[in-house]
Amino acid sequence: MSRVLVVEDESAIAELVSINLRHAGYDVVIAATAERAQLEVDRELPDLVLLDWMLPGASGLQLARRWRGEARTRELPIIMLTARNEEADRVGGLDAGADDYLTKPFSTKELLARMRAVLRRKAPEALDSAVEVAGLRLDPTTRRITRLIDGQSREVKVGPTEFRLLHFLMTHPERVHSRAQLLDRVWGDHVFIEERTVDVHVKRLREALGPVHCAALIETVRGAGYRMTQTPAAAAA
Ligand code: CA
Repeated sequence: MSRVLVVEDESAIAELVSINLRHAGYDVVIAATAERAQLEVDRELPDLVLLDWMLPGASGLQLARRWRGEARTRELPIIMLTARNEEADRVGGLDAGADDYLTKPFSTKELLARMRAVLRRKAPEALDSAVEVAGLRLDPTTRRITRLIDGQSREVKVGPTEFRLLHFLMTHPERVHSRAQLLDRVWGDHVFIEERTVDVHVKRLREALGPVHCAALIETVRGAGYRMTQTPAAAAA
């Protein structure tokens, strides 16, 4: 389930947005101040942030700038919400690193559509679309992983963590992910888990993928991390 952080000091709006997002299947956390929002992000990276422009204390704009400046939060999908609609503000929000911009009041339908568009671009693992890499297919809706071998669909059984890990790797193919990045994006917590944990789950995942000849799709990049590739090196096994 995708986790959305709603940063909004007007509780009526925060509540309304959360109810609608929960209804649409999102897991929602509300923060009424910039400080609270920062704590939530430190604790666990959300899949997306709905960020109000006008907040008590640090503004949404400052928060967006800060997050864009830090490695851990640089890719965090952010949609800014604002009551103002002047062109200058819109430009300011996008300059600060917001991925999109919604002017209050907005419809739930529009909000959900914008969220899906931003997620598709920046965090496709947070969506429920099926994904395929080198014949290996993963469907988040049915939670099935399959591969066609000799015209037969063979199913791969993995645990929930391996499933999330494979989903993340498949939605970001060919890119190298460090263990810390994988902990943030797959486990959602970089503080309390050892990086070695990633290796354990990658090993389990490769073992599960072995019977369908897909273990080599997950490459170890020495000194850097892991990568899902369409074209495994011949030597990899
Ligand atoms: Ca506000």
